[in-house]
Formats: sequence, structure tokens, C-alpha cells
Amino acid sequence: MTNATFPETAPEEAPASPAALSSGFFLLPQEDPAQAHRMQRFLLASCTSFVVLFLFYLYHLLGVMDRDALVHLTLATVLGNIGFYVLFRSGLNTRFSDPSLTLWMILFSTLVLLYAINAARGGRTSLLLVYLVPFLFGLFRLSMVQMLSIAAFFLAGYGWILSRDWMLMESRSALQMQILQWIVPAFVLCWFAVFASYVGSLRKRLAESHDRLEEVLARLQSLVSRDDLTGLHNRRHITDILDQERSRADRGGLPFCVFMMDLDHFKAVNGSFGHASGDEVLRNFAENAGQILRPTDFFARYGGEEFLLFSTQTGLEGAQRLAERLRAMIASTAFPGLPGGQQITVSIGIAEYRRGEAIQSALLRADAALYAAKQNGRNKVETAT
Ligand code: GH3
Ligand code: MG
Ligand code: MG
Repeated sequence: MTNATFPETAPEEAPASPAALSSGFFLLPQEDPAQAHRMQRFLLASCTSFVVLFLFYLYHLLGVMDRDALVHLTLATVLGNIGFYVLFRSGLNTRFSDPSLTLWMILFSTLVLLYAINAARGGRTSLLLVYLVPFLFGLFRLSMVQMLSIAAFFLAGYGWILSRDWMLMESRSALQMQILQWIVPAFVLCWFAVFASYVGSLRKRLAESHDRLEEVLARLQSLVSRDDLTGLHNRRHITDILDQERSRADRGGLPFCVFMMDLDHFKAVNGSFGHASGDEVLRNFAENAGQILRPTDFFARYGGEEFLLFSTQTGLEGAQRLAERLRAMIASTAFPGLPGGQQITVSIGIAEYRRGEAIQSALLRADAALYAAKQNGRNKVETAT
């Protein structure tokens, strides 16, 4: 079972609405939005099948379907729905190439409808109309070949029912009527199948332009929040993040520290080895320092050769240990692009955020500590009072 026209694209993977996800009544798998979405589609199809079952019940009440046939159709509908529900709930559906099981559900409905048409002693044309409902479910998910195959399967079954009826009648005019009764639905179903391929190509194009838009959006987001040279957060972005963390800390969250870092004698690096080498040192510094940070830390280029580290859930003692590790690691790292033996060092000033203070004030205290580290001979860590 392949989905030739389109793979699992946007609408299938679209996250279900939060209301639907939290709907305990339907037992939707909340942890996986794609599964929840498939389950929603299944529930829609399942409700439809019970409405159609009600129609069969009306056929029986009106005397055009006998009791045994109704019992068989009821059993098939209930058991079929339970079977598909178990497949979706257990996750076994994900082993299929199309985990929405659209093709299988339509094939199942086709068999049920063919049985009903065969069992109905009247009102068959109306049941043909009902068949368009499951067929429509395939419109947005199946390829033209798949839709045509389903149509052929249905028309073969329907043709067999009509020919059997004709054999009982054995009149030539009845044959013409039977042929007409077959040709009209054949035309409609084939038209739907071709239309499905048109809808499919529209859907594919829409999904592609959606992907392109997402790419552009991600690029734009990166442009406004990242530093070009190092790829670290830029000053504007880190300030936003700090503001958010500040509100959290003020509401009783964990402490956090800010580190101001400045490369020592960087003018001399530029002066001796050129601006391009200076740039490479900045990139390598960002890469090396980033390696010993935790995923919860935020590292930004604050300007020129100044960097800002924002360490969440960290008190002053932990921050000092981290800064010391960082300082020592940089001092012992050989920077490619610089002649052998040429070391880079960094001075670091740390401040722990005080509940209620402005972020700017914490940054100024970290800056003062950095100044002290420079005054004390550089390649040092100092903490703000
Ligand atoms: P110290 O901090 O130890 O006091 O000395 P310093 O030499 O590092 O002093 P300062 O902060 O005054 O100089 C920073 C230098 O960094 C000046 C500037 O040319 C250089 N710089 C700033 N941004 C860039 C950049 O993007 N690329 C390069 N290559 N150099 C930069
Ligand atoms: Mg500087
Ligand atoms: Mg400097």
C-alpha cells in the first residue's frame, strides 16, 4: 500500500487542536500530535459508518432489507470499527506506509456497501450515492491510481450484482437498464478519481510553498536573533531572553548569573595577524567555550570581542566554578590561525541576579567585575559584590 502522489505531508502531520488533544473522552494519544490527528480522522470516519448503519436500519424498517443482512452489516460495522480503533490506539498503524490507513478503511467500506447493495431489494441507486462518502475520504490522501483501483474494485462488485439480477430477469430491455445503472456510477467514480489527482497536485504544491515559507521564516528568525560571525545569540536576542528569565526569577524561580567576558589584548591580535585572523579567533573562541556549556545556558556575542554568558539555575558558587573552567580551557587552547605558542586569554566578570533588580543593573555589576579582572592582570575571574 503506497501513497504514490504525496507522502505524509502537512495536513496529515498537522497538530491536533489543544482542545481535541485533551479530549479524554475519545482517548486521543496526547503525546503524539500526528497520531492524535489520524485518530480524529478515524473517529470522523467511524461516526459516518454508524450513520450509514442507521440508513441500513431504515432500509430494514421499510421492508427492503431482511433482518439477517442487517445483523451482518451491524456486526461488520462494529467489528471493523473496533479493529481499526485497536490498530490506531496500539500504534500498529504506523507500520503501514500510509499510517492513516485511508486505503484500507475505504476498501472496508466498499465491501460493506457492496454487501448492502446486494442485500437491498430496492433503493440501490440511493446506496450508490452513499458510496461517494467513503470515496470522498480518499480524495485528499490517495493518488489517482489508488482511487481508480478502488473504483474498479467497487464497479466489478457492483457489475457482478447487476449481472446476477439480470440473469434472474432475462429480458433484453432489462439488460440495457442494468448497463446504464453501471455506466453512470462508473463515470462519476472515474471523474472523482481524476479530480483526486488534481486536488492532490494542488495539495502538494501548497505543502511545498508552506515548507519554503517555513525555511524563509527560520532564516529570518536566525538573522534577527543570531550573530553572523559566530552564530551565537546576538545582543538584542539575549536581552529578550534575560528579560523573560528575570520575570521567572522574580516569581520565585531559581537564581541565575550573568558573565561578561572580554578577550584580552585583542587589538594586538588584529594588529599582529590581521583582522581576518582576529575573526577566526572570535569564531574559535565561541566554538570552544560553547562546548563546555550546558544546554540550558545562553551564550551571546555582546559586541566586538565581548561575550555574554547567561547561566540559568546557577548560583554564584557554581558560576565561579564554570567561569574558572572556561578561563583555564581558553588559556590552554591552541587557536588555529595563530602562530604556535600564541595564546588567547579571557577575563570574566560574574554577577548573580538579585531579585527585583533591573537586568541592566546586573549587567553593570558584571561589567564592573570584568573591569576588576582586567585591573588584576587579565586572564582572571572576578565576581560582583
Ligand atoms: P583588553 O580588552 O585586554 O583591555 O584589550 P583589547 O585590545 O581587547 O581592548 P579593546 O576592547 O579596546 O579592543 C577590542 C578590539 O577588538 C578592537 C577592535 O578592533 C576589535 N574588534 C571588535 N570587533 C571585531 C571583529 O568583529 N573582528 C575583529 N577581527 N576584531 C574586532
Ligand atoms: Mg573590549
Ligand atoms: Mg578586549
